[in-house]
Amino acid sequence: MLEDRPYQVVWFKRDLRLADHRPLVEATALGPVVPLYVLEPALWRQPDASQRHWRFVRESLLELDGALRRRGSALWVARGEITTVLERLLARLGRFSLHSHQETGNAWSFARDRAVADWARERGVDWREHPQQAVIRGRLDRDRWDAHWRAFMSEPIPEPPSRIRSPLPERPAEALLPVEWLEPLEPDEHRFCQPGGRRRAEGVLAGFIDRRGRRYHREMSSPNTAYRACSRLSPHLAWGTLSIREVVLATREARARDRGGGRDRALGAFESRLHWHCHFIQKLESEPRIETRNLQRACDGLRDGAAGTERLWAWQAGRTGFPFVDACMRALRYTGWINFRMRSMLMAFASYHLWLDWREPGLHLARCFTDYEPGIHWPQVQMQSGTTGINAMRIYNPVKQSLEQDPHGRFIRRWVPELRRVPDSWIHAPGAMTPRQQAHGGVRIGVDYPPPLVDHEAAAREAREKLRAVRRDGGARDEARAIHRRHGSRRRRPRRSDRAESRQGRLFE
Ligand SMILES: Cc1cc2nc3c(=O)[nH]c(=O)nc-3n(C[C@H](O)[C@H](O)[C@H](O)COP(=O)(O)OP(=O)(O)OC[C@H]3O[C@@H](n4cnc5c(N)ncnc54)[C@H](O)[C@@H]3O)c2cc1C
Repeated sequence: MLEDRPYQVVWFKRDLRLADHRPLVEATALGPVVPLYVLEPALWRQPDASQRHWRFVRESLLELDGALRRRGSALWVARGEITTVLERLLARLGRFSLHSHQETGNAWSFARDRAVADWARERGVDWREHPQQAVIRGRLDRDRWDAHWRAFMSEPIPEPPSRIRSPLPERPAEALLPVEWLEPLEPDEHRFCQPGGRRRAEGVLAGFIDRRGRRYHREMSSPNTAYRACSRLSPHLAWGTLSIREVVLATREARARDRGGGRDRALGAFESRLHWHCHFIQKLESEPRIETRNLQRACDGLRDGAAGTERLWAWQAGRTGFPFVDACMRALRYTGWINFRMRSMLMAFASYHLWLDWREPGLHLARCFTDYEPGIHWPQVQMQSGTTGINAMRIYNPVKQSLEQDPHGRFIRRWVPELRRVPDSWIHAPGAMTPRQQAHGGVRIGVDYPPPLVDHEAAAREAREKLRAVRRDGGARDEARAIHRRHGSRRRRPRRSDRAESRQGRLFE
């Protein structure tokens, strides 16, 4: 023992930072600290995990280790099941307290946290969990949720400790190696994905607030502009290199500085998304089955199983014959990111036009998104698939979206190079070109680029009817009312930019 006080183990999970880290601050005040990250094979073997997640996490861990070392400690990395690791630590350190942030993760991490709670109880270890989002654990009073969000975001941010006393000088043997259980990607495939680490997180936040975010509300919908105009903070929020409170406070400070200036609309629209962040995570926290089961059970068995089907493969590969859908999917595969509108369209296309059950497409997107956040992802996946029973059916017309968001086909030509010589007049629906037009456009439909997988108008009509038939059923209506009582929050009236976004969404139904 370093001193008489018991050891404090700080377990880092999706909170890979020192700033705004209450568990670390509290632990440091109580005694010598062991900062711990556990590389859990079973977690990384889950079907929603991918190499690009690990790449981001690894980069963030290396930086975290550096930041800890500058404060007199180092990051302890152990590999194995968490309870086995904790047991080993108990044998080595004697008694300790465990500190971490609460996690609203996937079903696996939920079960894992329950196992840790059981282990801690049996061993008499005090496990203190701190919320890192404005998410309420346990009984939820929806009417008070907004007030809770505001109070949480107004709490002062604790300073990171300047010095951390650590008990053991040597590092454990396990290193931060690539995770060999994960499917490798093609060498090129994540070349353009966002890199991890706190320094990058701070740079992305400052760059957005000071420069890039000025036209956020106007440029968030088209993928031609969204890569620059959106904050791109999502992977940093998902893996915790920034806290949501830090982002909210930075946004409020910028708005206060800019009173009457030109950025208030943009930053106001942005702040409302930060509210959605926690609002969605709350849904998974309160109803974890959203990850695997239809929220509205009346939708069970409605769609075809997707696994192994040609339609799923074509959608995943960006070869559906709808250039804008394919461009979005290919861009996502290479960059790990696409904007909200295009995520919605991709998901809705799989669920409505291709009539695939949402689980497999949802897993594919989860693996592609560097910013995979289960609490936002699964409620959004279900919302865009019409299985919540309470949200409007949004069936995006892929050709109309293409005309609206990429009128000159710039994005399409970048990501679907086989169409680069196709003239603007055909770029949105090249499947309708005659052989002569194809020769002129330098593409052979069916050889270089696939014909459309479905007649999109007929497929949308059929999907709408099938879902409406379910919704008309009396039992399903009762169920929808019950879901509404559980999930229909009293949110603020949407801002003008949000309303414009949703009005546009309705246009394309
Ligand atoms: C099918 C589908 C799956 C999605 N999966 C994820 C996911 O796994 N992880 C994820 O972070 N977001 C997800 N989103 C929400 C949204 O698309 C992304 O948060 C956003 O595109 C991230 O880019 P950004 O940080 O530049 O966003 P910005 O527009 O700059 O927004 C800032 C932050 O606000 C939050 N936010 C923005 N839009 C939403 C929204 N619609 N719902 C909830 N929170 C929001 C995010 O934390 C985001 O980082 C999903 C949306 C859909 C339709």
